[in-house]
Amino acid sequence: MADVKSVVERARKAFNSGKSRPLEFRIQQLKAVEKMVKEKEKEFSEALKADLNKNPYSSFTYEMMGVLSEIEAAVSNLSQWAAPQHMDKNIMVMMDEAYVHYEPLGVVLIIGAWNYPVALVLQPLVGAIAAGNAVICKPSEVSEHAAKLIAELLPQYLDKDLYPVVTGGVPETTELLKQRFDHILYTGSSNVGKIVMEAAAKHLTPVTLELGGKSPCYIDKDCDVDLACRRVAWGKYMNCGQTCIAPDYVLCDQSLQGRIVEGVKKALTEYYGEDVKKSPDYERIVTTRHFKRLMGLLEGQKITYGGEADETTRFIAPTILTDVDPNSKVMQEEIFGPILPIVSVKNIDEAIQFINHREKPLALYVFAKDKAVIKRMIAETSSGGVTANDVMMHFTLHSLPFGGVGNSGMGAYHGRFSFKTFSHQRSCLVRSLNMEAMNKLRYPPNSQKKVDWAKFFVLKKFGKSKVGLVVLAVLGVVLAVVIKNRHSVLGLLAVLAGQRLWRLGRGSCDS
Ligand code: NAD
Repeated sequence: MADVKSVVERARKAFNSGKSRPLEFRIQQLKAVEKMVKEKEKEFSEALKADLNKNPYSSFTYEMMGVLSEIEAAVSNLSQWAAPQHMDKNIMVMMDEAYVHYEPLGVVLIIGAWNYPVALVLQPLVGAIAAGNAVICKPSEVSEHAAKLIAELLPQYLDKDLYPVVTGGVPETTELLKQRFDHILYTGSSNVGKIVMEAAAKHLTPVTLELGGKSPCYIDKDCDVDLACRRVAWGKYMNCGQTCIAPDYVLCDQSLQGRIVEGVKKALTEYYGEDVKKSPDYERIVTTRHFKRLMGLLEGQKITYGGEADETTRFIAPTILTDVDPNSKVMQEEIFGPILPIVSVKNIDEAIQFINHREKPLALYVFAKDKAVIKRMIAETSSGGVTANDVMMHFTLHSLPFGGVGNSGMGAYHGRFSFKTFSHQRSCLVRSLNMEAMNKLRYPPNSQKKVDWAKFFVLKKFGKSKVGLVVLAVLGVVLAVVIKNRHSVLGLLAVLAGQRLWRLGRGSCDS
Protein backbone atom coordinates (compact mmCIF):
# COMPACT_ATOMS: atom_id res chain seq x y z
CA MET A 1 0.00 0.00 0.00
CA ALA A 2 1.24 3.50 -0.85
CA ASP A 3 2.51 5.47 2.13
CA VAL A 4 -0.46 7.82 2.07
CA LYS A 5 0.68 9.69 5.16
CA SER A 6 3.85 10.86 3.47
CA VAL A 7 1.95 11.69 0.25
CA VAL A 8 -0.34 13.99 2.22
CA GLU A 9 2.60 15.49 4.14
CA ARG A 10 4.41 16.22 0.88
CA ALA A 11 1.31 17.88 -0.56
CA ARG A 12 0.92 20.01 2.58
CA LYS A 13 4.56 21.06 2.48
CA ALA A 14 4.15 22.03 -1.17
CA PHE A 15 1.00 23.98 -0.36
CA ASN A 16 2.71 25.74 2.54
CA SER A 17 5.48 26.84 0.21
CA GLY A 18 2.85 29.09 -1.40
CA LYS A 19 3.54 27.96 -4.96
CA SER A 20 -0.06 26.96 -5.70
CA ARG A 21 -1.39 30.43 -4.88
CA PRO A 22 -0.38 32.78 -7.73
CA LEU A 23 -3.08 32.97 -10.38
CA GLU A 24 -0.50 32.53 -13.16
CA PHE A 25 0.60 29.23 -11.61
CA ARG A 26 -3.00 28.01 -11.28
CA ILE A 27 -3.70 28.88 -14.92
CA GLN A 28 -0.53 27.16 -16.02
CA GLN A 29 -1.55 23.97 -14.17
CA LEU A 30 -5.08 24.15 -15.58
CA LYS A 31 -3.62 24.42 -19.07
CA ALA A 32 -1.46 21.41 -18.29
CA VAL A 33 -4.60 19.40 -17.46
CA GLU A 34 -6.08 20.58 -20.76
CA LYS A 35 -2.92 19.53 -22.61
CA MET A 36 -3.03 16.12 -20.94
CA VAL A 37 -6.68 15.52 -21.89
CA LYS A 38 -6.08 16.62 -25.48
CA GLU A 39 -2.82 14.76 -25.99
CA LYS A 40 -3.97 11.58 -24.27
CA GLU A 41 -7.54 11.46 -25.57
CA LYS A 42 -6.86 8.11 -27.24
CA GLU A 43 -5.41 6.58 -24.07
CA PHE A 44 -8.37 7.82 -22.02
CA SER A 45 -10.78 6.38 -24.59
CA GLU A 46 -9.04 3.01 -24.49
CA ALA A 47 -9.19 2.90 -20.70
CA LEU A 48 -12.90 3.78 -20.75
CA LYS A 49 -13.54 1.13 -23.40
CA ALA A 50 -11.81 -1.46 -21.20
CA ASP A 51 -13.70 -0.43 -18.06
CA LEU A 52 -17.20 0.26 -19.39
CA ASN A 53 -17.19 -0.47 -23.13
CA LYS A 54 -17.53 3.25 -23.84
CA ASN A 55 -16.85 4.16 -27.44
CA PRO A 56 -14.45 7.03 -28.26
CA TYR A 57 -17.27 9.41 -29.18
CA SER A 58 -19.16 9.04 -25.93
CA SER A 59 -15.89 9.04 -23.99
CA PHE A 60 -15.08 12.41 -25.45
CA THR A 61 -18.59 13.84 -25.20
CA TYR A 62 -19.50 12.65 -21.72
CA GLU A 63 -16.13 12.62 -19.99
CA MET A 64 -13.49 14.78 -21.62
CA MET A 65 -15.65 17.57 -22.99
CA GLY A 66 -16.98 18.41 -19.53
CA VAL A 67 -13.43 18.64 -18.22
CA LEU A 68 -12.28 20.81 -21.12
CA SER A 69 -15.22 23.17 -20.81
CA GLU A 70 -14.67 23.42 -17.06
CA ILE A 71 -11.02 24.35 -17.71
CA GLU A 72 -12.08 26.90 -20.31
CA ALA A 73 -14.48 28.54 -17.86
CA ALA A 74 -11.89 28.57 -15.07
CA VAL A 75 -9.04 29.93 -17.19
CA SER A 76 -11.10 32.72 -18.72
CA ASN A 77 -12.83 33.77 -15.50
CA LEU A 78 -10.26 33.09 -12.81
CA SER A 79 -9.05 36.65 -12.35
CA GLN A 80 -12.65 37.78 -11.91
CA TRP A 81 -13.57 34.90 -9.57
CA ALA A 82 -10.50 35.43 -7.43
CA ALA A 83 -10.77 39.22 -7.24
CA PRO A 84 -11.84 40.73 -3.90
CA GLN A 85 -15.62 41.02 -3.87
CA HIS A 86 -16.58 44.39 -2.44
CA MET A 87 -19.62 44.26 -0.20
CA ASP A 88 -22.28 46.58 1.19
CA LYS A 89 -21.33 48.59 4.26
CA ASN A 90 -23.17 50.19 7.14
CA ILE A 91 -22.81 53.81 8.20
CA MET A 92 -20.27 53.00 10.91
CA VAL A 93 -17.72 51.80 8.35
CA MET A 94 -18.76 53.71 5.26
CA MET A 95 -15.27 55.18 4.76
CA ASP A 96 -13.63 51.73 4.97
CA GLU A 97 -13.06 48.77 2.69
CA ALA A 98 -15.27 45.70 3.16
CA TYR A 99 -14.73 42.74 0.89
CA VAL A 100 -14.65 38.96 0.56
CA HIS A 101 -11.21 37.59 -0.13
CA TYR A 102 -11.12 34.12 -1.70
CA GLU A 103 -8.28 32.10 -0.25
CA PRO A 104 -7.34 28.48 -0.94
CA LEU A 105 -8.41 25.99 1.72
CA GLY A 106 -5.16 23.99 1.71
CA VAL A 107 -4.94 20.28 0.94
CA VAL A 108 -8.04 18.85 -0.72
CA LEU A 109 -8.96 15.20 -1.18
CA ILE A 110 -11.03 14.19 -4.21
CA ILE A 111 -12.50 10.69 -4.17
CA GLY A 112 -14.02 9.68 -7.50
CA ALA A 113 -16.58 7.05 -8.55
CA TRP A 114 -16.29 4.54 -11.38
CA ASN A 115 -19.18 5.42 -13.70
CA TYR A 116 -17.55 8.50 -15.27
CA PRO A 117 -14.11 7.74 -13.84
CA VAL A 118 -12.19 10.44 -15.71
CA ALA A 119 -14.66 13.32 -15.42
CA LEU A 120 -15.47 12.64 -11.76
CA VAL A 121 -11.82 13.09 -10.81
CA LEU A 122 -10.66 15.75 -13.27
CA GLN A 123 -13.68 18.05 -13.11
CA PRO A 124 -13.46 18.71 -9.36
CA LEU A 125 -9.67 18.81 -9.72
CA VAL A 126 -10.04 21.78 -12.06
CA GLY A 127 -12.02 23.72 -9.44
CA ALA A 128 -9.61 22.82 -6.66
CA ILE A 129 -6.55 23.91 -8.70
CA ALA A 130 -8.33 27.11 -9.76
CA ALA A 131 -8.92 27.92 -6.10
CA GLY A 132 -5.19 27.48 -5.38
CA ASN A 133 -5.16 24.23 -3.39
CA ALA A 134 -2.96 21.17 -3.26
CA VAL A 135 -5.09 18.20 -4.33
CA ILE A 136 -4.87 14.49 -3.72
CA CYS A 137 -6.89 12.48 -6.22
CA LYS A 138 -8.24 9.03 -5.43
CA PRO A 139 -9.90 7.51 -8.51
CA SER A 140 -12.23 4.54 -8.09
CA GLU A 141 -10.59 1.12 -8.06
CA VAL A 142 -13.68 -0.33 -9.77
CA SER A 143 -12.79 1.37 -13.07
CA GLU A 144 -9.23 0.14 -12.79
CA HIS A 145 -7.96 1.08 -16.26
CA ALA A 146 -9.00 4.70 -15.90
CA ALA A 147 -7.55 4.82 -12.36
CA LYS A 148 -4.21 3.45 -13.54
CA LEU A 149 -4.05 5.93 -16.40
CA ILE A 150 -4.88 8.93 -14.21
CA ALA A 151 -2.16 7.86 -11.74
CA GLU A 152 0.32 7.52 -14.59
CA LEU A 153 -0.50 10.73 -16.45
CA LEU A 154 -1.14 13.35 -13.79
CA PRO A 155 2.46 13.43 -12.51
CA GLN A 156 3.67 13.74 -16.11
CA TYR A 157 1.74 16.94 -16.66
CA LEU A 158 1.18 18.53 -13.24
CA ASP A 159 3.29 19.49 -10.24
CA LYS A 160 4.04 16.13 -8.62
CA ASP A 161 4.06 17.30 -5.02
CA LEU A 162 0.94 19.43 -5.20
CA TYR A 163 -1.29 17.04 -7.13
CA PRO A 164 -0.47 13.40 -6.31
CA VAL A 165 -2.73 10.45 -7.13
CA VAL A 166 -3.40 7.60 -4.71
CA THR A 167 -4.87 4.43 -6.19
CA GLY A 168 -6.43 1.46 -4.45
CA GLY A 169 -9.68 0.40 -2.87
CA VAL A 170 -11.28 0.45 0.56
CA PRO A 171 -8.05 -0.07 2.59
CA GLU A 172 -6.25 2.78 0.80
CA THR A 173 -9.25 5.11 1.04
CA THR A 174 -9.68 4.23 4.71
CA GLU A 175 -6.02 5.06 5.33
CA LEU A 176 -6.35 8.30 3.37
CA LEU A 177 -9.41 9.31 5.38
CA LYS A 178 -7.39 9.08 8.61
CA GLN A 179 -5.27 11.99 7.40
CA ARG A 180 -6.14 15.59 7.92
CA PHE A 181 -7.50 17.48 4.91
CA ASP A 182 -8.90 20.96 4.50
CA HIS A 183 -11.75 19.75 2.29
CA ILE A 184 -12.98 16.44 0.93
CA LEU A 185 -15.08 16.09 -2.20
CA TYR A 186 -16.49 12.59 -2.40
CA THR A 187 -18.49 11.12 -5.28
CA GLY A 188 -20.21 7.78 -4.75
CA SER A 189 -22.93 6.07 -2.79
CA SER A 190 -24.77 7.59 0.17
CA ASN A 191 -23.60 4.73 2.44
CA VAL A 192 -19.93 5.41 1.83
CA GLY A 193 -20.70 9.13 1.97
CA LYS A 194 -21.57 8.62 5.64
CA ILE A 195 -18.22 6.87 6.24
CA VAL A 196 -16.41 9.78 4.58
CA MET A 197 -18.29 12.36 6.61
CA GLU A 198 -17.62 10.52 9.86
CA ALA A 199 -13.89 10.38 9.11
CA ALA A 200 -13.90 14.06 8.12
CA ALA A 201 -15.65 15.02 11.36
CA LYS A 202 -12.66 13.80 13.37
CA HIS A 203 -10.64 16.68 11.88
CA LEU A 204 -13.58 19.06 11.42
CA THR A 205 -12.92 18.85 7.70
CA PRO A 206 -15.72 20.26 5.52
CA VAL A 207 -17.11 17.89 2.90
CA THR A 208 -18.86 18.07 -0.43
CA LEU A 209 -20.77 14.84 -0.94
CA GLU A 210 -21.84 14.08 -4.49
CA LEU A 211 -24.14 11.12 -3.91
CA GLY A 212 -26.97 9.43 -5.76
CA GLY A 213 -30.50 8.20 -5.23
CA LYS A 214 -33.61 7.52 -7.21
CA SER A 215 -34.24 10.43 -9.58
CA PRO A 216 -37.94 10.43 -10.56
CA CYS A 217 -39.38 11.42 -13.91
CA TYR A 218 -43.01 12.53 -14.02
CA ILE A 219 -44.66 12.45 -17.43
CA ASP A 220 -47.88 14.44 -17.49
CA LYS A 221 -50.82 13.29 -19.61
CA ASP A 222 -50.77 16.63 -21.38
CA CYS A 223 -47.36 16.43 -23.04
CA ASP A 224 -45.66 15.29 -26.21
CA VAL A 225 -45.21 11.67 -25.09
CA ASP A 226 -43.06 10.58 -28.05
CA LEU A 227 -40.67 13.44 -27.51
CA ALA A 228 -40.54 12.73 -23.77
CA CYS A 229 -39.72 9.07 -24.53
CA ARG A 230 -36.84 10.00 -26.87
CA ARG A 231 -35.31 12.20 -24.19
CA VAL A 232 -35.90 9.74 -21.35
CA ALA A 233 -34.48 6.83 -23.39
CA TRP A 234 -31.33 8.84 -24.13
CA GLY A 235 -30.71 9.67 -20.46
CA LYS A 236 -31.78 6.34 -19.00
CA TYR A 237 -29.74 4.01 -21.20
CA MET A 238 -26.64 6.16 -21.70
CA ASN A 239 -23.64 4.44 -20.07
CA CYS A 240 -25.94 1.43 -19.63
CA GLY A 241 -27.97 3.30 -17.01
CA GLN A 242 -24.91 3.88 -14.84
CA THR A 243 -25.36 7.64 -14.54
CA CYS A 244 -26.07 9.30 -11.20
CA ILE A 245 -28.64 11.69 -12.70
CA ALA A 246 -30.30 9.16 -15.03
CA PRO A 247 -34.09 9.10 -14.64
CA ASP A 248 -34.47 6.18 -12.24
CA TYR A 249 -38.17 5.53 -12.77
CA VAL A 250 -41.19 7.02 -14.55
CA LEU A 251 -44.35 8.20 -12.81
CA CYS A 252 -47.40 8.57 -15.06
CA ASP A 253 -51.09 7.96 -15.41
CA GLN A 254 -51.94 4.26 -15.94
CA SER A 255 -53.29 5.07 -19.42
CA LEU A 256 -49.89 6.40 -20.56
CA GLN A 257 -47.89 3.23 -19.79
CA GLY A 258 -48.43 1.55 -23.16
CA ARG A 259 -47.58 4.70 -25.12
CA ILE A 260 -44.43 5.20 -23.07
CA VAL A 261 -43.27 1.63 -23.65
CA GLU A 262 -43.84 2.05 -27.40
CA GLY A 263 -42.16 5.47 -27.46
CA VAL A 264 -39.07 4.28 -25.56
CA LYS A 265 -38.82 1.13 -27.73
CA LYS A 266 -38.96 3.27 -30.89
CA ALA A 267 -36.26 5.59 -29.61
CA LEU A 268 -34.03 2.67 -28.58
CA THR A 269 -34.24 1.12 -32.04
CA GLU A 270 -33.28 4.46 -33.54
CA TYR A 271 -30.33 4.90 -31.14
CA TYR A 272 -28.95 1.36 -30.95
CA GLY A 273 -30.38 -0.49 -34.01
CA GLU A 274 -32.33 -3.78 -34.06
CA ASP A 275 -29.67 -5.66 -32.09
CA VAL A 276 -28.52 -3.53 -29.18
CA LYS A 277 -25.87 -6.08 -28.23
CA LYS A 278 -24.05 -5.28 -31.46
CA SER A 279 -24.32 -1.51 -31.06
CA PRO A 280 -20.99 0.26 -30.54
CA ASP A 281 -22.91 2.89 -28.58
CA TYR A 282 -24.22 0.61 -25.85
CA GLU A 283 -22.00 0.17 -22.81
CA ARG A 284 -21.67 -2.74 -20.37
CA ILE A 285 -22.17 -3.15 -16.63
CA VAL A 286 -18.95 -2.34 -14.84
CA THR A 287 -18.39 -5.61 -12.91
CA THR A 288 -20.02 -9.01 -12.40
CA ARG A 289 -20.95 -7.96 -8.86
CA HIS A 290 -22.92 -4.99 -10.21
CA PHE A 291 -24.43 -7.23 -12.94
CA LYS A 292 -25.72 -9.71 -10.36
CA ARG A 293 -27.24 -6.95 -8.22
CA LEU A 294 -29.15 -5.64 -11.24
CA MET A 295 -30.40 -9.08 -12.25
CA GLY A 296 -31.69 -9.45 -8.69
CA LEU A 297 -33.80 -6.34 -9.15
CA LEU A 298 -35.65 -7.97 -12.07
CA GLU A 299 -36.91 -10.89 -9.99
CA GLY A 300 -40.72 -10.99 -9.80
CA GLN A 301 -41.11 -7.99 -12.12
CA LYS A 302 -43.30 -7.69 -15.22
CA ILE A 303 -40.69 -7.23 -17.95
CA THR A 304 -42.55 -5.57 -20.81
CA TYR A 305 -39.46 -4.97 -22.89
CA GLY A 306 -35.83 -6.20 -22.81
CA GLY A 307 -34.57 -8.33 -19.94
CA GLU A 308 -31.97 -10.24 -22.00
CA ALA A 309 -28.64 -10.55 -20.24
CA ASP A 310 -25.24 -12.18 -20.61
CA GLU A 311 -23.08 -12.50 -17.51
CA THR A 312 -19.83 -13.24 -19.33
CA THR A 313 -19.89 -9.90 -21.16
CA ARG A 314 -21.88 -8.12 -18.40
CA PHE A 315 -24.54 -7.18 -20.94
CA ILE A 316 -28.06 -6.25 -19.84
CA ALA A 317 -30.45 -5.11 -22.57
CA PRO A 318 -32.43 -1.90 -22.15
CA THR A 319 -35.35 -3.05 -20.06
CA ILE A 320 -38.78 -1.61 -19.23
CA LEU A 321 -40.91 -2.79 -16.30
CA THR A 322 -44.61 -1.92 -16.14
CA ASP A 323 -47.20 -1.95 -13.34
CA VAL A 324 -44.38 -1.78 -10.83
CA ASP A 325 -45.31 -2.08 -7.18
CA PRO A 326 -43.83 0.92 -5.31
CA ASN A 327 -42.86 -1.45 -2.48
CA SER A 328 -40.88 -3.84 -4.69
CA LYS A 329 -37.09 -4.11 -4.43
CA VAL A 330 -36.46 -2.24 -7.67
CA MET A 331 -38.19 0.77 -6.09
CA GLN A 332 -36.24 0.61 -2.82
CA GLU A 333 -32.71 1.30 -4.08
CA GLU A 334 -31.08 3.36 -6.81
CA ILE A 335 -31.14 1.18 -9.94
CA PHE A 336 -27.96 2.45 -11.60
CA GLY A 337 -28.50 0.17 -14.59
CA PRO A 338 -30.58 -0.09 -17.80
CA ILE A 339 -33.90 -0.90 -16.10
CA LEU A 340 -36.80 1.55 -16.32
CA PRO A 341 -39.75 0.88 -13.99
CA ILE A 342 -43.02 2.63 -14.76
CA VAL A 343 -45.16 3.33 -11.71
CA SER A 344 -48.76 4.51 -12.07
CA VAL A 345 -50.01 7.62 -10.33
CA LYS A 346 -53.44 9.21 -10.82
CA ASN A 347 -52.31 12.79 -11.20
CA ILE A 348 -49.67 15.36 -10.30
CA ASP A 349 -50.85 15.47 -6.66
CA GLU A 350 -50.14 11.79 -6.27
CA ALA A 351 -46.81 12.16 -8.10
CA ILE A 352 -45.75 14.93 -5.73
CA GLN A 353 -46.82 12.88 -2.73
CA PHE A 354 -44.92 9.86 -4.07
CA ILE A 355 -41.72 11.87 -4.48
CA ASN A 356 -42.03 13.60 -1.12
CA HIS A 357 -42.46 10.31 0.72
CA ARG A 358 -39.01 9.23 -0.40
CA GLU A 359 -35.45 10.53 0.07
CA LYS A 360 -34.65 13.78 -1.70
CA PRO A 361 -33.32 12.80 -5.13
CA LEU A 362 -30.24 14.11 -6.94
CA ALA A 363 -32.32 15.12 -9.95
CA LEU A 364 -35.98 15.43 -10.80
CA TYR A 365 -37.60 15.45 -14.22
CA VAL A 366 -41.02 16.59 -15.31
CA PHE A 367 -42.50 16.55 -18.77
CA ALA A 368 -45.58 18.72 -19.30
CA LYS A 369 -46.93 21.22 -21.82
CA ASP A 370 -48.49 23.27 -19.05
CA LYS A 371 -45.87 25.48 -17.38
CA ALA A 372 -48.05 25.55 -14.24
CA VAL A 373 -47.51 21.78 -13.81
CA ILE A 374 -43.75 22.28 -14.06
CA LYS A 375 -43.78 25.19 -11.62
CA ARG A 376 -45.87 23.19 -9.16
CA MET A 377 -43.57 20.22 -9.34
CA ILE A 378 -40.58 22.46 -8.64
CA ALA A 379 -42.32 24.37 -5.86
CA GLU A 380 -43.73 21.37 -4.01
CA THR A 381 -40.83 18.91 -4.13
CA SER A 382 -37.09 19.04 -3.46
CA SER A 383 -34.09 17.62 -5.34
CA GLY A 384 -30.48 18.49 -6.10
CA GLY A 385 -31.45 19.82 -9.53
CA VAL A 386 -34.30 19.82 -12.03
CA THR A 387 -34.61 19.64 -15.78
CA ALA A 388 -38.10 20.12 -17.15
CA ASN A 389 -39.10 18.71 -20.53
CA ASP A 390 -35.77 16.91 -20.83
CA VAL A 391 -33.40 14.93 -18.65
CA MET A 392 -29.90 15.61 -17.27
CA MET A 393 -29.28 18.79 -19.25
CA HIS A 394 -29.04 21.02 -16.16
CA PHE A 395 -25.75 19.21 -15.47
CA THR A 396 -24.20 20.60 -18.64
CA LEU A 397 -24.42 24.25 -17.57
CA HIS A 398 -21.51 25.30 -15.43
CA SER A 399 -23.45 28.44 -14.56
CA LEU A 400 -25.64 26.15 -12.40
CA PRO A 401 -24.38 24.52 -9.19
CA PHE A 402 -24.32 20.73 -9.40
CA GLY A 403 -24.97 18.80 -6.22
CA GLY A 404 -27.50 16.94 -4.14
CA VAL A 405 -29.68 17.70 -1.15
CA GLY A 406 -30.43 15.52 1.87
CA ASN A 407 -29.65 11.90 1.07
CA SER A 408 -28.39 12.80 -2.42
CA GLY A 409 -25.56 14.92 -1.09
CA MET A 410 -24.40 18.25 0.20
CA GLY A 411 -22.53 21.13 -1.35
CA ALA A 412 -22.09 21.66 -5.07
CA TYR A 413 -19.53 22.27 -7.76
CA HIS A 414 -19.08 23.18 -11.46
CA GLY A 415 -17.82 26.49 -12.81
CA ARG A 416 -17.70 29.29 -10.29
CA PHE A 417 -19.40 27.06 -7.72
CA SER A 418 -16.34 24.77 -7.77
CA PHE A 419 -14.09 27.75 -7.17
CA LYS A 420 -16.24 28.78 -4.18
CA THR A 421 -16.45 25.23 -2.84
CA PHE A 422 -12.67 24.96 -2.74
CA SER A 423 -12.09 28.48 -1.39
CA HIS A 424 -12.50 30.02 2.01
CA GLN A 425 -14.59 33.17 1.73
CA ARG A 426 -12.68 35.36 4.11
CA SER A 427 -14.43 38.46 5.43
CA CYS A 428 -12.10 41.45 5.36
CA LEU A 429 -12.70 44.91 6.73
CA VAL A 430 -9.86 47.38 6.35
CA ARG A 431 -10.61 50.40 8.53
CA SER A 432 -9.41 53.92 8.15
CA LEU A 433 -7.39 55.45 10.96
CA ASN A 434 -9.47 58.65 10.68
CA MET A 435 -12.99 59.46 11.87
CA GLU A 436 -12.21 58.47 15.46
CA ALA A 437 -15.02 60.77 16.64
CA MET A 438 -17.54 58.32 15.15
CA ASN A 439 -16.03 55.48 17.18
CA LYS A 440 -16.63 57.18 20.51
CA LEU A 441 -20.14 55.78 20.31
CA ARG A 442 -18.88 52.26 20.98
CA TYR A 443 -16.31 53.05 23.66
CA PRO A 444 -17.26 53.08 27.36
CA PRO A 445 -18.72 54.69 29.35
CA ASN A 446 -22.01 53.53 27.85
CA SER A 447 -25.26 55.43 28.08
CA GLN A 448 -28.81 55.41 26.74
CA LYS A 449 -27.83 58.24 24.41
CA LYS A 450 -25.15 56.09 22.85
CA VAL A 451 -27.61 53.22 22.48
CA ASP A 452 -30.02 55.60 20.71
CA TRP A 453 -27.28 56.75 18.39
CA ALA A 454 -26.24 53.16 17.73
CA LYS A 455 -29.88 52.35 16.90
CA PHE A 456 -29.89 55.19 14.47
CA PHE A 457 -26.59 54.35 12.80
CA VAL A 458 -26.89 50.59 12.71
CA LEU A 459 -30.63 49.90 12.66
CA LYS A 460 -31.57 53.26 11.12
CA LYS A 461 -34.42 53.49 13.65
CA PHE A 462 -35.88 56.60 15.20
CA GLY A 463 -39.35 58.02 15.86
CA LYS A 464 -41.05 60.66 13.69
CA SER A 465 -41.06 63.13 16.55
CA LYS A 466 -37.27 63.08 16.52
CA VAL A 467 -36.84 63.82 12.80
CA GLY A 468 -35.70 67.38 13.33
CA LEU A 469 -33.33 66.34 16.07
CA VAL A 470 -31.86 63.57 13.99
CA VAL A 471 -31.32 65.80 10.97
CA LEU A 472 -29.63 68.38 13.17
CA ALA A 473 -27.52 65.72 14.79
CA VAL A 474 -26.47 64.28 11.44
CA LEU A 475 -25.44 67.68 10.25
CA GLY A 476 -23.59 68.13 13.55
CA VAL A 477 -21.65 64.91 13.03
CA VAL A 478 -20.82 65.87 9.46
CA LEU A 479 -19.62 69.26 10.57
CA ALA A 480 -17.55 67.76 13.36
CA VAL A 481 -15.95 65.38 10.94
CA VAL A 482 -15.22 68.14 8.45
CA ILE A 483 -13.61 70.28 11.13
CA LYS A 484 -11.64 67.37 12.57
CA ASN A 485 -10.39 66.26 9.17
CA ARG A 486 -9.49 69.50 7.55
CA HIS A 487 -7.97 67.66 4.69
CA SER A 488 -10.17 68.67 1.77
CA VAL A 489 -10.74 65.24 0.22
CA LEU A 490 -11.80 63.72 3.53
CA GLY A 491 -13.93 66.75 4.20
CA LEU A 492 -15.67 66.28 0.90
CA LEU A 493 -16.23 62.60 1.63
CA ALA A 494 -17.62 63.47 5.02
CA VAL A 495 -20.08 65.90 3.41
CA LEU A 496 -21.13 63.18 0.95
CA ALA A 497 -21.56 60.79 3.85
CA GLY A 498 -23.69 63.43 5.55
CA GLN A 499 -25.86 63.70 2.46
CA ARG A 500 -26.29 59.95 2.41
CA LEU A 501 -27.21 59.96 6.09
CA TRP A 502 -29.71 62.71 5.42
CA ARG A 503 -31.31 60.65 2.66
CA LEU A 504 -31.31 57.51 4.80
CA GLY A 505 -32.86 59.46 7.66
CA ARG A 506 -35.58 60.76 5.39
CA GLY A 507 -36.17 57.27 3.99
CA SER A 508 -36.61 55.81 7.49
CA CYS A 509 -38.97 58.63 8.45
CA ASP A 510 -41.06 58.26 5.33
CA SER A 511 -41.46 54.52 5.68
P1 NAD B 1 -17.35 3.39 -6.02
O1 NAD B 1 -17.52 1.96 -5.66
O2 NAD B 1 -16.42 3.74 -7.13
O3 NAD B 1 -16.98 4.16 -4.71
C1 NAD B 1 -16.66 5.52 -4.76
C2 NAD B 1 -15.35 5.75 -4.02
O4 NAD B 1 -15.51 5.40 -2.66
C3 NAD B 1 -14.21 4.90 -4.56
O5 NAD B 1 -13.10 5.73 -4.78
C4 NAD B 1 -13.98 3.88 -3.47
O6 NAD B 1 -12.61 3.53 -3.34
C5 NAD B 1 -14.46 4.57 -2.23
N1 NAD B 1 -14.99 3.62 -1.25
C6 NAD B 1 -15.83 2.59 -1.50
N2 NAD B 1 -16.14 1.96 -0.34
C7 NAD B 1 -15.47 2.61 0.65
C8 NAD B 1 -15.38 2.45 2.05
N3 NAD B 1 -16.02 1.48 2.68
N4 NAD B 1 -14.61 3.31 2.74
C9 NAD B 1 -13.95 4.29 2.11
N5 NAD B 1 -14.00 4.49 0.79
C10 NAD B 1 -14.75 3.67 0.06
O7 NAD B 1 -18.70 4.03 -6.43
P2 NAD B 1 -20.16 3.70 -5.98
O8 NAD B 1 -20.31 4.02 -4.55
O9 NAD B 1 -20.59 2.39 -6.49
O10 NAD B 1 -20.84 4.84 -6.89
C11 NAD B 1 -22.11 4.76 -7.30
C12 NAD B 1 -22.92 5.81 -6.58
O11 NAD B 1 -22.34 7.08 -6.82
C13 NAD B 1 -24.33 5.90 -7.07
O12 NAD B 1 -25.17 6.09 -5.97
C14 NAD B 1 -24.31 7.14 -7.95
O13 NAD B 1 -25.56 7.76 -8.05
C15 NAD B 1 -23.32 7.98 -7.22
N6 NAD B 1 -22.72 8.96 -8.11
C16 NAD B 1 -22.97 10.27 -7.85
C17 NAD B 1 -22.46 11.23 -8.68
C18 NAD B 1 -22.71 12.67 -8.43
O14 NAD B 1 -22.08 13.48 -9.11
N7 NAD B 1 -23.56 13.04 -7.52
C19 NAD B 1 -21.70 10.85 -9.79
C20 NAD B 1 -21.46 9.51 -10.01
C21 NAD B 1 -21.98 8.56 -9.16
